[in-house]
Amino acid sequence: MSADGVSGEVRPAPVDLDVPRLRPAGKGLAGIASTGRMTHHEHLEAVRRGDLGSIHSWELVTSVDGPGTRLTVFVAGCGLRCQYCHNPDTFVMARGEPVLLEDLVARLRRYRGVFRATRGGLTVSGGEPLMQPAFVGRLLHEAKAMGIHTCLDTNGYLGAHAPDALLDDVDLVLLDIKAGLPDTYHEVTGVELEPTLRFSRRLAGRGQAMWIRYVLVPGLTDAVDDVEAVAAHVATLGSVERVEVLPFHQMGRDKWESLGLTYRLADTPTPSGELLERVRGQFRAHGLTTY
Ligand code: SF4
Repeated sequence: MSADGVSGEVRPAPVDLDVPRLRPAGKGLAGIASTGRMTHHEHLEAVRRGDLGSIHSWELVTSVDGPGTRLTVFVAGCGLRCQYCHNPDTFVMARGEPVLLEDLVARLRRYRGVFRATRGGLTVSGGEPLMQPAFVGRLLHEAKAMGIHTCLDTNGYLGAHAPDALLDDVDLVLLDIKAGLPDTYHEVTGVELEPTLRFSRRLAGRGQAMWIRYVLVPGLTDAVDDVEAVAAHVATLGSVERVEVLPFHQMGRDKWESLGLTYRLADTPTPSGELLERVRGQFRAHGLTTY
C-alpha cells in the first residue's frame, strides 16, 4: 500500500496480477485494475470483510499443489520460520501487495476453461493462508461458486482460525506436517506441533480429503523415529488420500541471504535416492499411498 504521509490516507497500489512468483514484493506494479483511494479506515474495513488481501504472487502450475493445472495464489504472511523455507519473502504479511478480491476472482474466471480441461483449479498457498481467513474464505467461496476445484495449502498451525464455512469450500487440504516429534517440529519451525495435529484430527473428523506433505531434510527430519511418529499419526486419519515426501533442495538459499536472514542449511545436501525410498517405505508400511 502507499500512504501520502500527510492526510493519513492509504491507497492500495494498482495491482498487476501478472506478477512472477519470485518477483520481489512492491516492484513494477503496472495496474490492470485501479482500486481507487481508500482511507486508512476503509482499508482496515476491507481487510476485515475479506475484500482486500495481502498477496505475494501467483503462478500457473501443473502437477504440483494439487491435481491438474492450478492457479496457485501465494498469500503473504507466515508465523512459522521453517529452516528450509524457500519463500522467506512471504514471512511478513505487510510486505505483500494489497489485492482486491474482485480482481483476483476476475483472474480466476479467465482460467475456468483451463481448469476444466485439466481437472485443475485454485490452490491457496503462502506464506500461510490461514493468516488471512476472511479474504481466503471469500476467495475459496467465489471459486466454488464458479465450479472450480479448490485446494488449501497450509501448515495447519492456525487451523483453529478456519471456520467450518471456510473448510466447506475446500475440496482438498494440502497439509504440511514438518516433523513427527514435538522437539524436532519446534527445531524446524519455531512453533509447537500440537495445533497442526489437532487440525488434522478435525479435518479427518469432517471427512475432508487431505494430502499430507513431508519435507525430507537430511540431518533434520530424516530420523527414523521422527518419520515413524508422522506416519503413525497420519495412518489414524481416515481421509488422507496420499502422502508426498518432498526432497529438500537449496532453492531458497539466495532469498534468505538477500533478506539478511541466517540460513542454517547451507551445507545440507539433498536427500539421496536411498534415503527417500527408506522414508517413503516407512509411510507405506502404515498402509499409506506415498509418493
Ligand atoms: S510454513 Fe511454509 S511459508 Fe511458512 S515458514 Fe514454513 S515453509 Fe515457509
